[in-house]
Amino acid sequence: MKQSPPVIVGCGIAGLTVALTLAPRPAIILARKVPGLETSSNLAQGGIAAAMGADDSPELHAQDTMAAGAFHGDPAIIHLVTRAGPQAIRQLAAWGVAFDRDGQGRLDLTLEGAHCRRRVVHAGGDGTGAAVVRTLMDRARSTPSITIVEDANVVGLAAGDNGITGVAFTHHGKARTIATDNVVLATGGSGALWQYTTNPLGSWGHGLVLASRAGAALRDLEFVQFHPTAIDSGQDPLPLASESLRGEGAILINDLGERFMACEPMGDLSPRDVVSRAIWAQLQDGRRVFLDVHRIASFATRFPTIYDLCRTAGIDPVRQPIPVRPAAHYHMGGIAVDMQGRTNVDGLWAGGEAAATGLHGANRLASNSLLEAVVFGRRIAQGILGAAARAPATAVAFPEAPPIATPEERDRIRSLMMRHVGVQRDKAGLETAVEALSPLAVRCDMALAALLIARAALAREESLGAHCRTDFPEIHCEPKYAFGPSA
Ligand SMILES: Cc1cc2nc3c(=O)[nH]c(=O)nc-3n(C[C@H](O)[C@H](O)[C@H](O)COP(=O)(O)OP(=O)(O)OC[C@H]3O[C@@H](n4cnc5c(N)ncnc54)[C@H](O)[C@@H]3O)c2cc1C
Repeated sequence: MKQSPPVIVGCGIAGLTVALTLAPRPAIILARKVPGLETSSNLAQGGIAAAMGADDSPELHAQDTMAAGAFHGDPAIIHLVTRAGPQAIRQLAAWGVAFDRDGQGRLDLTLEGAHCRRRVVHAGGDGTGAAVVRTLMDRARSTPSITIVEDANVVGLAAGDNGITGVAFTHHGKARTIATDNVVLATGGSGALWQYTTNPLGSWGHGLVLASRAGAALRDLEFVQFHPTAIDSGQDPLPLASESLRGEGAILINDLGERFMACEPMGDLSPRDVVSRAIWAQLQDGRRVFLDVHRIASFATRFPTIYDLCRTAGIDPVRQPIPVRPAAHYHMGGIAVDMQGRTNVDGLWAGGEAAATGLHGANRLASNSLLEAVVFGRRIAQGILGAAARAPATAVAFPEAPPIATPEERDRIRSLMMRHVGVQRDKAGLETAVEALSPLAVRCDMALAALLIARAALAREESLGAHCRTDFPEIHCEPKYAFGPSA
């Protein structure tokens, strides 16, 4: 059987970066639905964090990343990514991304929660993700070495003693296989496992299941970030009111008009886990929570995407505060990879949100994920280009009928995850979730992804970063080791 080029699963910023960096070496992207559209990348609003300002440095960016991650991140990876930040922005600009600039032509930098400097680069106001995906998609489509297979849903990976041998997928509903010795999983996050999420509904952690079945290690699955300010509009997924709103002066209030974040040292710009827990506590007390944006001048012009999202949901943000609630947003855990984006299975790589590099620790610093996807996307491509070829694969079998959740099972899984594996967890609730998910997981991949996360949350008997166990109320967030520039 003829050996194929590397196969990239997923068409968000991670998958596209790998393919564009590999060029002119051929690559195949397998993409669900319309490539690029059903992606978290396309929804990203705030932007990409990088130390581009004159008052900033990768070191300061690293310190903020470490602190937001509750000092659970890997210092070497944090330094690697923050140092590579400016170059990643220059690469995106070279690929054609038109970042927003001020009157003097300098990058317009925004402040976001838990950043000590204005360092968030954006495009199209609050439409950064859509601008980046559109630009990279156009470029990928016009790159002859990149083949994009649309409506391709990967259902299994084939691996032998020497590593990856191929990938099985459905294409327009028909069973297909490709023999290859390099597969990159860029399948995104797992937020859609929760009832309230900002992620596309296809982002339910399928990459975790595909990787673990192929023998890859997973790590830190219990660390899931709940975005504090999803717009409580009744839509599914919930639209997002980006953190940069608070960076530009928006404040959180409850239905009594109280500024309940005022007692926190960093106030409304506290790290996401702190804000999510505070809002969750308000909701548990029967209060409603709102984001008041009236202090932001020219709101509709500066934040056109959020303005449109609000209007679609029947809210006029200029005249009334925006109702918000925490929603599953970003998975810090994922497929364990090394500094190059390699898993422990030869020929299997993972990038973007599907991977756990060690950058985010127990909680992601806002706008660090697009950066990580670009930095590691480039490293994965360089790793593949430098890797020795392995013996060609001979055959790939299509797996038995892939286990798909019924709509009722899907609702049950999502409600279990929200109730028991949500913003706050405890032993009894996690045990309930594990017990309920276990029989479902035998016949349904979505339940298996949920079970893997619930088990990890049960196993970590402490509160750390975004993992808040009410039965272990003391929150650990002190450095566990000295943190310096050379670490
Ligand atoms: C509303 C929102 C706003 C955000 N804002 C920001 C921000 O401002 N800054 C920031 O840094 N981060 C932000 N994030 C997070 C960031 O967007 C994501 O972490 C990042 O885009 C993930 O990129 P990715 O390429 O790994 O995955 P995605 O962009 O989600 O792409 C995953 C791809 O994998 C495909 N896929 C999945 N499973 C399969 C399968 N079995 N077969 C075939 N294809 C499959 C999907 O269809 C999709 O094409 C935001 C996220 C959301 C949801």
